[in-house]
Amino acid sequence: MSDRRIRVRFAPSPTGPLHLGGVRTALYNYLFAKKMGGDFILRIEDTDQNRFVPGAEGYIIESLKWAGLNFSEGPGVGGKYGPYRQSERKEMYRQYADQLVENGNAYYAFDTNEELEEMRERMTKAGMSSPKYDHITREYMKNSLSLPKDEVEQRLKNGEHYVIRIKIPRNEEIKLHDVIRGWVTVKSAELDDKVLFKSDGMPTYHLANVVDDYLMQISHVIRGEEWLPSAPTHVLLYRYLGWEEVMPKFAHLPLILKPDGNGKLSKRDGDRLGFPVFTLNWNDPVSGELSSGYREAGYLPEAYINILAMLGWHPSDNKELFSMDELVESFTLERVSKSGAKFDFEKAKWYNHQYLKTKDNAYLANEFKPTLANYDVEVSDEYLQKVCGLIKEKATFLKDFWSLGSYFFLRPMHYDESVIAKKWDANCPAFFTAVNEKFKTTANFTAAELQVIYEQTATEMNLKPGNYMQLFRVLISGQAAGPAVWEMVEVIGKTETNIRIETAIEKFGVIGISVS
Ligand code: GLU
Repeated sequence: MSDRRIRVRFAPSPTGPLHLGGVRTALYNYLFAKKMGGDFILRIEDTDQNRFVPGAEGYIIESLKWAGLNFSEGPGVGGKYGPYRQSERKEMYRQYADQLVENGNAYYAFDTNEELEEMRERMTKAGMSSPKYDHITREYMKNSLSLPKDEVEQRLKNGEHYVIRIKIPRNEEIKLHDVIRGWVTVKSAELDDKVLFKSDGMPTYHLANVVDDYLMQISHVIRGEEWLPSAPTHVLLYRYLGWEEVMPKFAHLPLILKPDGNGKLSKRDGDRLGFPVFTLNWNDPVSGELSSGYREAGYLPEAYINILAMLGWHPSDNKELFSMDELVESFTLERVSKSGAKFDFEKAKWYNHQYLKTKDNAYLANEFKPTLANYDVEVSDEYLQKVCGLIKEKATFLKDFWSLGSYFFLRPMHYDESVIAKKWDANCPAFFTAVNEKFKTTANFTAAELQVIYEQTATEMNLKPGNYMQLFRVLISGQAAGPAVWEMVEVIGKTETNIRIETAIEKFGVIGISVS
């Protein structure tokens, strides 16, 4: 089997928007496929019609596209193992359910919902903590194992509702090897006789998943830890269907945990702590509730990918920034950890900043331009690009550019009062006037030159240049912090700088803040 082609699939159910954990699963599948020169497939698992949510499939596909996780086979793309939507494969599953019944590994069950409920109640009363349809209860429930053969035939002939359940062996140890967790052993008595085929003519997740992985020649099943409890049932299905030889290798990914405390990260944590858990905005078609997504929150897809990559996988060194190509290069399933990964949204923002500042200024200027129009600001492309070059060093998101850098376009209306109150003194008017006069006459209005002029003037006047630096920044920009001050002044330019210094001297006079 070693020369088997690597084929992996991301197999979401279209039951709602894609949680970031879902995209991480897709990403790890994608990276593994690319690394191994294999195929990455999207399969939509939509057999549970009760849980179908309109728009969810389109949302999933758009999310993958935005994140750059292109699948080589799937809905809309096609491929030789299609269709890739389980609802369109409906006819393929029945024969396998029948085969399992014929071989005695599955059976018909006729129980009504009320009867199932009654059984659960009875077992609970008898002290069972998790009552289930299993090798004990199936003995007295209404199924083709417990009922006489002719009654079963009669019921089938009458077209009575039934489901097909797997017959889990009574007393067996089921072993499965997981690439991330090693050997996992489960006692069959802990499993229930899961429904494989439903009365609506649809297979359940378990049957459809195994049949499709087999038919699509999937080599590795890489999915979330929440599916680990289902894996032993899947192993039995491979065995009963005679496919053990080509059973995929399993890799169950660790949970993504809340930033604070234990447990799986949920949408509620995001709402509570103020960060998105979905990839794109989602407008719930039933409740009308709007949930925010990473894309709309201003994350760059490269940053999102990097954030997700590090949630459960560690490179061999301390490197933190990985492009998709670098991830493909470095990724191995062996370096995926068993234990859950805490989601850290401060770190998520850090990642976005790292990627934002690598964007070229022309791109950023283009993205930022529409915001300027809202404020009736018109500047040259050259100027805007220079401004972007400075602001990007400080910004987490593009949407912060205006609040961080509006002073590049408008004169300050407010000045940081605490800095003025603390730093403005009686020397200021003379000092800043002297600096300004020299700025006016310099032929070389560059960051380096401006700094020299400023420092020399201070020294000549017996002042410490450092004492007035932050204040100077506030006079020009209104803000106490920002990009490197001399570069900022260079970009703002001579004429505008002169005006701003004069305006500030006039405003604060000799006493500073109390004048205003
Ligand atoms: N349809 C399952 C899901 O929604 C797929 C699990 C698997 O990959 O086997 O996650």
